[in-house]
Amino acid sequence: MNDAQVRELVESKLATIPDFPEPGVVFRDLTPVFADGPAFHALSEALTTPFAGRFDHLAGVEARGFLLAGAASVLCGAGVLPVRKAGKLPRAVLREEYDLEYGSAALEVHEGELAPAARVLIVDDVLATGGTALAAARLIERAGWQVAGISVAIELDALGGRARLDDRYDVRSLLQY
Ligand code: AMP
Repeated sequence: MNDAQVRELVESKLATIPDFPEPGVVFRDLTPVFADGPAFHALSEALTTPFAGRFDHLAGVEARGFLLAGAASVLCGAGVLPVRKAGKLPRAVLREEYDLEYGSAALEVHEGELAPAARVLIVDDVLATGGTALAAARLIERAGWQVAGISVAIELDALGGRARLDDRYDVRSLLQY
């Protein structure tokens, strides 16, 4: 399947929900893609193909990034680093706090989980403001690993995530809105 065919298949399954979870937000819901075997397979493969040979591990951002990183991991043979919301990981962690539109959030990884200088590709469903991906990238670098890139299924152009990231990281998205 070529890139255009993958885009067409994923887009045909994607659900778009206006005003969720609050008025003014257009929510891009990948759950129908996850529910469709061929579409999920094609998306998971497409997330890592552009970075072939440039990463050793996939970092999946909780929670939808876990599904994508897990599936892509089986297809490409790289292990997964779970990037979790605060308070979930049982051993010593590094924590990165970041701002949301209202309030703040934090992501964590286990320190020492990967070998020094491991090359890590960050995987998530949606790139919006870029705060989540930037926090994940900072965690990876603070842990002594390298960010191989940031790969998302969907990029929301108007929210400016790419501008916050692409001077330092290779950012790729399958679909742009
Ligand atoms: P951000 O940190 O602003 O780039 O937001 C990215 C995170 O929020 C991703 O992990 C997405 O799961 C979620 N997200 C933000 N905006 C949307 C949206 N419009 N539709 C679906 N998920 C979104």
